[in-house]
Amino acid sequence: MNAKKIKDMRERLSGEVEKLIKSINRGRLAAEEIKLENTEDEGDRASISHDRDLLYNIHEGGFARLRSIQEAIRIIDRGHYGECTRCRTDIDEKRLDAVPWATMCIRCQEEMEMEQTSSRMVLAGQESDEISL
Ligand SMILES: [Zn+2]
Repeated sequence: MNAKKIKDMRERLSGEVEKLIKSINRGRLAAEEIKLENTEDEGDRASISHDRDLLYNIHEGGFARLRSIQEAIRIIDRGHYGECTRCRTDIDEKRLDAVPWATMCIRCQEEMEMEQTSSRMVLAGQESDEISL
């Protein structure tokens, strides 16, 4: 990947970081407002906790994305952009166009997701064992 393209990519990623921080802050304010509302009505309480869960999920997703983008910017600054952080091969340029903050090639990404899924399954299994005891 040429220097010009990497520079463009860095700008694109920095813009993305700003947008995410703004939306995370908005979500935080909205969550504060929900927390401040106090109601004795059961139905309202249920919908408030649903809203809160929803915001929390958006919030968490935003943070995960933010971390990935900041990591990608660090990699650009170290001069390794476009290189897989796991196996060191070049990440497909088409993949980088679609997911500019990708720090792993598609193969490593899939492998890692599989590992995470199986460790989650192990945890879930432990939990259900405890319940049956
Ligand atoms: Zn890789």
